[in-house]
Amino acid sequence: MFDLCVVGAGLIGSAAAKHASRSSSVCLVGPDEPTGKERSSTSQRDIYGGHYDEGRIYMQSTSDPVWAKLAQRAIPRYSEISKESGIEFAVDVGCLSVGDRGGNYITAVKDVVEKDHINAQVLSGADVRSQFPFLSISNRDEAVFESHFAGYISPRRLVKAQIAIAKKNGCQHIQEVVRSVTRVVVNTNRDADSVMEVTTDYGRRILARKVLVATGAFTAFRNLLGVEVSPDTKLFPLAVTKVEISEEDAQKIKTMPSVLYFGKGGDDWNKDYPMDPRAPVVFYMLPPIRYSDGKYYIKLGHSHDSVPRLLHTGPQMKRWFDQGPDAQLTRQMADMITSVVKGVKVLSYHGDSCVVDVAPSNRPYIDRIHSQLGIAIAGNGYAAKSSDEIGRLAVELLMNGKWDIDIPKDLFCAKLKSGCGQSKL
Ligand SMILES: Cc1cc2nc3c(=O)[nH]c(=O)nc-3n(C[C@H](O)[C@H](O)[C@H](O)COP(=O)(O)OP(=O)(O)OC[C@H]3O[C@@H](n4cnc5c(N)ncnc54)[C@H](O)[C@@H]3O)c2cc1C
Repeated sequence: MFDLCVVGAGLIGSAAAKHASRSSSVCLVGPDEPTGKERSSTSQRDIYGGHYDEGRIYMQSTSDPVWAKLAQRAIPRYSEISKESGIEFAVDVGCLSVGDRGGNYITAVKDVVEKDHINAQVLSGADVRSQFPFLSISNRDEAVFESHFAGYISPRRLVKAQIAIAKKNGCQHIQEVVRSVTRVVVNTNRDADSVMEVTTDYGRRILARKVLVATGAFTAFRNLLGVEVSPDTKLFPLAVTKVEISEEDAQKIKTMPSVLYFGKGGDDWNKDYPMDPRAPVVFYMLPPIRYSDGKYYIKLGHSHDSVPRLLHTGPQMKRWFDQGPDAQLTRQMADMITSVVKGVKVLSYHGDSCVVDVAPSNRPYIDRIHSQLGIAIAGNGYAAKSSDEIGRLAVELLMNGKWDIDIPKDLFCAKLKSGCGQSKL
């Protein structure tokens, strides 16, 4: 019997397994990234994840002070994770947050920078164009530039790194989908004991004293929190577009940082985007990254704030992952990239799909459902950079009853469709 079984081998689950494996016997259960064949309408596979990519932005300042604090705890540990695992996953190219001068978004980012003493520069639109001449940023905009402890991570490599460390510590990784998690009574030599039973789709049974559910956007599609119980989260289908550029063009703009935008957009930007012209322009963009096919891509994604529809069922989720975004949206987003990043030639472009699980609070759920069942989900589209800290907090809470961060625990209370998780400390 394991001390802890972590269900879900994504960004948060792999981090949790690593932290717990330092002092406990741990089993991590969750499938690897699907192969091309498994990601098709004809395959049986219906559980995917939000980490199948090479670029997730990280920075210490953000408009939400709580998310900022989680990031500030996690990011300084990246180098230790790389060293311990031997896997590099972070590229410190910096991050530029841009918005209307005096607008709520950029003002909130500046507040966090000031209160948390983050090393960042405030730049005018003209300053941005002079530092990054290939970026078309309007004079109406203002930016916060973090040059250190900011850039992008490869979520694929981060998951690999966390699992590698967990395994070194003795963690067992079973690459299967979990069908159910239940509390059962077993008779030991001395007494009747209540333990957790985890059953996979293949019928494998795993016993553990405690279980942590870290299954992201797919939590509702198996019986992980009890029969007919699901987390109170909304599932937003997100589309991204990757524009291929040549290695020479990638070199020309090699100083490009990660970009977050929330504002009215530039006058010369593609006006097809976002779909609702009354809404603000909200996107994030990654600098050119070399993918496993050897090609360089600039990636742009819109925020879940600009997504008009939601997903509700397992088959809808599968269809969205298998079919991807529609061609028109992909083209609009590709046009957006070339209207912001000047002087690069598009060799090809394609779209990809992903889903984020968003809580009503816009904060992650890090909680105990009962004394033997914990939960760490609801990344809200922001959790990759902070996954190491979210996993650590969840493990400390479930295994040791500790909450050791200066943010009130109540902010992370899990809401289930049938009520609120118990979080008595
Ligand atoms: C397009 C996109 C762009 C993003 N950009 C950023 C960014 O720039 N910066 C940032 O910080 N964050 C970003 N995010 C958010 C970030 O990727 C997510 O918040 C993060 O992946 C959440 O981690 P997680 O562990 O909760 O979920 P995941 O990483 O999805 O992991 C959950 C895992 O659980 C597994 N699983 C599910 N059900 C079961 C089951 N029944 N049994 C076993 N395993 C199961 C899944 O297969 C998966 O591996 C982005 C997300 C998307 C989709």
